[in-house]
Amino acid sequence: MLSGGCFCGRVRYEADGIPFHETSCHCEICRRTSGAPLVTWFSVRRAEFRLVSGTPVRFRSTAFGTRSFCPDCGTQLTFENDGTPDEIDVTMSSLDEPDRLSPKDHTYVRSKLQWLRFADQLPAYEEARKT
Ligand SMILES: [Zn+2]
Ligand SMILES: [Zn+2]
Repeated sequence: MLSGGCFCGRVRYEADGIPFHETSCHCEICRRTSGAPLVTWFSVRRAEFRLVSGTPVRFRSTAFGTRSFCPDCGTQLTFENDGTPDEIDVTMSSLDEPDRLSPKDHTYVRSKLQWLRFADQLPAYEEARKT
């Protein structure tokens, strides 16, 4: 089981199952909503994700995407895409033990900040992952 939560501790979550689609996303929406150069995510089945304390605020970042944040400290926690209702993306860096997972690729590198240089040899996709 994976567990995590926001910086201040108000919102806590747990996730079961096997994480998938671990990625560092360089899109402008991830950047602007986090205030960071990129956001690293992992996915689990929605049925395998549960909030165990607190209620995040939910924000519709596009016509199809909803993000959640701690209402007190602002940590971004999840992304849900209307097109993949069985999946939920979770910010890897909000895990209690973030080094248990690692990104498998880079996505939306067309929006990558120019000064970022990768030394990880992972696949990099201009936009979404090609599966
Ligand atoms: Zn918080
Ligand atoms: Zn993104």
